[in-house]
Amino acid sequence: MNKLFIASSNAHKISEINTILEQNGIYLELVCPKDFDCKEEPCENGKTFKENSEIKALFYYNLYHLPTLADDSGICIDYFNGLPGIYSARFFGDIDYKTKNDIVLKMMENTDNRAAQFVADICYADESGNVHHYEGINPGLISHVQKGTDGFGYDPIFLIEEYGMTEAELGETYKNEYSHRAVAMKKWIEDVRKEF
Ligand code: IMP
Repeated sequence: MNKLFIASSNAHKISEINTILEQNGIYLELVCPKDFDCKEEPCENGKTFKENSEIKALFYYNLYHLPTLADDSGICIDYFNGLPGIYSARFFGDIDYKTKNDIVLKMMENTDNRAAQFVADICYADESGNVHHYEGINPGLISHVQKGTDGFGYDPIFLIEEYGMTEAELGETYKNEYSHRAVAMKKWIEDVRKEF
């Protein structure tokens, strides 16, 4: 089985990527920094999702010379002029997401401007180290209360208007088909299907 290095330590992200691959008929041995006991980390100092995903993909490609997939993603909230965006993981510091989401909801309690989108840029460093980018966007609204237990991060406050439910309520069946990550991954899969 071909190996694909996933440039992430986020177990939720890796699991979503694995399921999306399998649902699209791609069976690969996924490896990640933990499997190499890797203590080094890339410096994510890019100004865009695209710059950061490329930093991560090339950092691990240069260490292990394996085809490498990096996802840089986050939530962009209109009311915050697009923030937290690339800072989604670091927004409000190292606190749990229940608290983080409560802070967001509190800051937005008096506004009707609730539009937001999840954005993902997938960077693929192929076996020669050439990079390719794939973008996925999923629009939604910021809810008024946290709802649902599936998913991770901002999923409990990300409302999908069509269903009137958050991504954390809709769960993996929805996310693996329509999330920002699924949209970007499916573009990548169409491009590399023959390779794997
Ligand atoms: P990254 O690992 O540097 O790309 O940061 C991604 C961060 O964006 C995560 O830690 C979450 O805060 C947020 N995020 C990205 N994708 C999702 C998702 O599918 N659901 C909820 N939050 C997400």
